[in-house]
Order: sequence, then C-alpha cells, then structure tokens
Amino acid sequence: MKRERYENSRRLFWKAERLIPGGVNSPVRAFNSVGGNPVFVKKGKGAYLYDVDDNIYIDYVNSWGALLFGHAFFSVVDSIQQQALLGTSYGIPTEAEIELAQLFVDAVPHVEKVRFVNSGTEATMSAVRLARGFTGRNKIIKFIGCYHGHADSFLVAGGSGLSTLGIPDSAGVPQGAIADTLLADFNSLDSVALLFEQFPESIAAVIVEPVAGNMGCVAPVSGFLEGLRKLCSQYQTLLIFDEVMTGFRLARGGAQEYFQVEADLVTFGKIVGGGLPVGAFAGKKYIMDQLAPLGPVYQAGTLSGNPLAMSAGIQMLKRINRDEALYRRMEHKTAYLEEELKSLFEEFKVPVCINRVGSMISLFFDSDAVTDYASAQCADAGTFRAFFQGMLEQGVYLPPSPFESWFLSDALTQEDLDHTVEAARTVLSGMV
Ligand code: PLP
Repeated sequence: MKRERYENSRRLFWKAERLIPGGVNSPVRAFNSVGGNPVFVKKGKGAYLYDVDDNIYIDYVNSWGALLFGHAFFSVVDSIQQQALLGTSYGIPTEAEIELAQLFVDAVPHVEKVRFVNSGTEATMSAVRLARGFTGRNKIIKFIGCYHGHADSFLVAGGSGLSTLGIPDSAGVPQGAIADTLLADFNSLDSVALLFEQFPESIAAVIVEPVAGNMGCVAPVSGFLEGLRKLCSQYQTLLIFDEVMTGFRLARGGAQEYFQVEADLVTFGKIVGGGLPVGAFAGKKYIMDQLAPLGPVYQAGTLSGNPLAMSAGIQMLKRINRDEALYRRMEHKTAYLEEELKSLFEEFKVPVCINRVGSMISLFFDSDAVTDYASAQCADAGTFRAFFQGMLEQGVYLPPSPFESWFLSDALTQEDLDHTVEAARTVLSGMV
C-alpha cells in the first residue's frame, strides 16, 4: 500500500495536539489558514528542510528570516559546539558579549550602545519602555497590521499570526495596557500627523517595521520613513525601527542604511542570533544609559547574553562582514525569483501582486497594489491556500500564511530558484 505523503507528520501532530495547545508552540505553525497538517521537520541543511516522512523542501521561511545563510551553517554550528563544551550559561559577563556588541555597533548606523535579550518581543517591549522612561510620556503609535511581538501593548490590530487567525486584538490584554497604543495606517503620514495633532505632548515613540513583513511584504512608499523621522523630531518623540526582520537582511546596517533614514532606537532579532534565541535593542548612549543599572528604566534577563547565542551571533556578523557581495547577491537572487514568477503568473493570467524589498518577498492574489493592511486583506486567501498546498506537494516550503513575508537564504542556488519556478508552473497548471 502506498504511504501517504505526510503520514508521520500527521501522526506527530495528532500526538502534539493532545499535549500542546493547537499542537504548536507558535500559532502560525499550525497551518490554520492554509489547511492540512503541519509538516514536522527532522533536519535542515543549507537551503533544504527534511521532514519526518523523508520529503525534502526548498525553504523560503528560514526560521522566519533568521537563517540568512541557510540551515546548519557550519561556522555557527561549530562555534555553538565549542562553546557548549565550556558551559551553556553562566549569568555572569563574558568577553563574547563585548565582541558581539562591537560587531553590532560597527555595523548598525547611529548606534552607540546595545543590549542583548532573548527574542524580538523582548527587544521591542524593552525599547518601548526605554522610550517611555526617556521621554516621560506614555502613548505610542503603531501601525495597523504591523507586528512587534506578543507583549501586551502591541496586541492591537497586529499582523502575523493575529491576522492569520483573524484575532487582531488578543483576549487577556487589559484595556489599560493598550489604552496608550494609538493606531495609524502604514504608508499614511496623514494618519500619523493627525495623532500628533491630537496628542502633541504625550507620544513617547512611533514604532514601525521599516518594511512591513507581517502583513505579507509591504514596502514603505517613498517619503514615508523620512516623514516619520520629521514628525518624530518635530514632536520630540523617539522613532523606533523594529528591525527584527529587516536587520542584517536588507543591508549590513539594516533599514537605516538601506533607506538612509535615522531612527532613535532600533530593535533586532532573528539574524543576529543565527537561529539561536537572541534579540537586541540599541541606540545612542544618552538614551541607552537610561537603562538600569545606570538609569531608572529596568530591564533584565537570566539568559540574556547567553554564551551559545553570543557565539552564534558573532559568527553570523563576521560572515556578513567578510562578504562584500552578499547583499548584491541576495538582491539578485530575489529579483530573479520575482521576475520569473511575475511572467509565469502573467502567462497563466492569474492576477497577482508580488511585493519585494531586498530578499523579502511575498505574493498576494490580487490585481491591485498592496500598500497597507487594508489592501493586504483584499487578497484572495483561498487561492493562496491552494497555491501553498500545491507548492508544498512540489517540495517548496512557503510561509503557511498569506500575511507573512518569504525570506530567501544565501544557500539557495540558481537551480533551486529554477526548481521553485517550475514547481509554481506545475501548481498553476493544476489550478487554472
Ligand atoms: N518584530 C517583528 C517585526 C517581528 O517580525 C517579530 C517576529 O516575527 C517580532 C518583533 C517578535 O520577535 P520574536 O518572535 O523573536 O519574539
């Protein structure tokens, strides 16, 4: 009897569902919006994922963007192994923290000091607290459809899993925690200006994903980030670039370098840990020194600056530093995929909007431009679902939600890209 393609994954999911809510430790992994059974992975190597049924996939998730060089990147794995033999955590300072901080400060523009935490959520949560402590104000502006992690104050009109599951405001968040979160429309400076006019002396920070990656990939329109900078300076509000996705992905210096716009605080995650749990928030000395033990803003962590995570981060940043052609190559690979997919969809007369910035890309089944959360919502989720399932069947692992960006890794070869386009051709042939 022929074995079913996802038989072992199905069995594991059934077991997981009895022990873990929804069978997963982060909601989008459950495949709710794309249907079917989540794939359980046993191994990743380079550009590929290997599942428990021995299916192989070209990976366009790359641990949600963390794996810029693909899975099991040798120098990262090697450094983790070596460090593990010396101890996995001390809760005492190590030289590795200084080394990673130096690499970070050298790479990221306008940054003098950095603090390492364990996740993107911790980074954004701490950056907002610091902004509030520094300005003595309480309100923040966030953009509808942007996601900054799962801290209470961000769980209003959020993207990512919140959009995927259709629960943009989480239950369990006290009204008080979000009362100071003001909402604006991504790419609309008018909506931001209006809030500043209403609350000219109360807004501590504007937090933005410089490229929105949690409503699918949505680029900032020309002048948007510059306009935010101007408004923030005018109202003495801190501009926070949430670079958890864009940091070390768009450029060595992240979105500040890519768009040539200066933020007051930046938050990082994903690539800076090379697949280990690391986040970072950073800025000028006079702001960062408000943190305890120097200043009154408290933030701490048992595992912050963890030696395994620091050693992985050091290897990632050193590798980025060594490779001058890296970001040109990533641009080239992703632009190739974009162009090939565009002409394929045209050939099959399937209306699609493909958005791309650097090596972040996503595809909306919509003939209109997608520039904000409202337009992202108009895309056809049913067609995405069919396309996702078809691609999975063809050995291409896409993010299991229309509200997530795809992330390319440098491990992808020309052959992988061509295979992806051929897979899309097969899937479209079956759909139209
Ligand atoms: N900020 C952005 C822009 C993100 O995309 C994410 C997660 O995807 C976060 C913050 C939260 O990071 P983490 O999941 O590491 O807590």
